[in-house]
Amino acid sequence: MTQRIAVLGATGSIGDSTLSILAEHPQLYQVYALSGHGRLDKLLTLCQQFQPVRVAVPSEKVDEFATRLQQAGLNCDVVGGQAGLDDIAADPEVDTVVAAIVGAAGLSSTLTAARAGKRILLANKEALVMAGSLMMQAVKDNGATLLPLDSEHNAIFQCLPNEVQQNNTAIHDAGHGVKKLWLTASGGPFLHKSLQQMQAASVSEAVKHPNWSMGKKISVDSATMMNKGLELIEACHLFDLAESDIQVVIHPQSIIHSMVEYTDGSFLAQLGSPDMRTPIAHALAYPQRIATSVESLDLFQLAALEFVKPDLEKFACLKLARQAMQTGQSATIALNAANEVAVEAFIKQQVFLTDIALINARVLDKMLGGDAILASQHTTGIAQNDTGLSQGINPNFSLNIKQLDDILNIDKIARSFAEQVIQECRS
Ligand code: NDP
Ligand code: MG
Repeated sequence: MTQRIAVLGATGSIGDSTLSILAEHPQLYQVYALSGHGRLDKLLTLCQQFQPVRVAVPSEKVDEFATRLQQAGLNCDVVGGQAGLDDIAADPEVDTVVAAIVGAAGLSSTLTAARAGKRILLANKEALVMAGSLMMQAVKDNGATLLPLDSEHNAIFQCLPNEVQQNNTAIHDAGHGVKKLWLTASGGPFLHKSLQQMQAASVSEAVKHPNWSMGKKISVDSATMMNKGLELIEACHLFDLAESDIQVVIHPQSIIHSMVEYTDGSFLAQLGSPDMRTPIAHALAYPQRIATSVESLDLFQLAALEFVKPDLEKFACLKLARQAMQTGQSATIALNAANEVAVEAFIKQQVFLTDIALINARVLDKMLGGDAILASQHTTGIAQNDTGLSQGINPNFSLNIKQLDDILNIDKIARSFAEQVIQECRS
């Protein structure tokens, strides 16, 4: 039977990798729906190549895009905005939703897919960072299947006992003997650079990842190691573990994509070339395997595999993510929102790369009731407090998070705080 696939975020980097696998196996997969946001020329080309039944674009572009499709001789239903994405995610004709939109913009459609009981291939880690419990509950209640595309989480998934993979038993069950997860990180382009060099980094230096080719936002997140922080939170939700059960280790070669440590002393690891087509192919075909044209790992060419402890002073975002996870969901929502705003400000050259951690920390302090301690001034004027969260949660923000609107409300407040912090430092 052909699996009908909706690729949400088709014009991005994960979209590219997914579509290249789908194109290799037309007998197994039908591209049923695609979505794009800014790169609509590219989306049109993809529509010509894959002939989807439905396509989602921003609301204000629906008519124009529909005309372009018509002129190209394509018969395709065009839907707009968040409602359009949600409609595709819940479409009864869709078997599998590839959640590859970047940032908070991907949350609603991913949650909708879970509620519609779909098979979800999750790249959009921000959805779990913001709405982990809601998402996991929706998956459970509606018989959805959540398969991680993030290479680390996909690696961990592959190294877990079969019963845990199939969701028949919990990871904590003593019989499984899972002791700890090891999340590998490349360390990004500034692993061997000083904090000062990192501070002076241009956008093009920050997005030049040593091993992976990815979208801009995740590339900046990799440079600050916020990406690993988000992945830590993602892993807690996916595998139902506390942050203390997950160790982050820098492995600059990105050959081992993560590991599971067992109580008998075994470490199971998944290895492969750093190419997202492998986890995507794994999740698409699971529990079977399909062939890809990913370059096979040449073990004889591999030099030493290194492992380094992360420097939490230099990569303060990683420390913040741990603290936010310990604090609770308001904190992880706020951290994600602040980070999205801060990354955008960095890309627009309004702040330095190293300011991202400071903006994130200031927003968390503001939201969670702390009086920011102005320990020193950073170059752009952002108050540099310690990156620790304040004691006690501000009652205004320790909301009882029951639904998507509660999450979006905290997200909105955190974004406006982040804008304020950036304005303060620029004025
Ligand atoms: P890209 O920036 O390359 O692509 C993002 C996609 O989201 C594009 O299709 C883009 O459309 C779409 N998009 C952006 N903003 C909106 C919006 N407001 N509404 C609807 N769609 C929108 O990112 P990546 O592919 O690199 O990353 C996608 C997700 O996957 C992220 O969450 C990332 O963390 C995760 N991920 C990525 C990995 C990678 O190797 N790239 C690895 C692991 C996880 P358009 O381009 O048309 O503007
Ligand atoms: Mg990853």
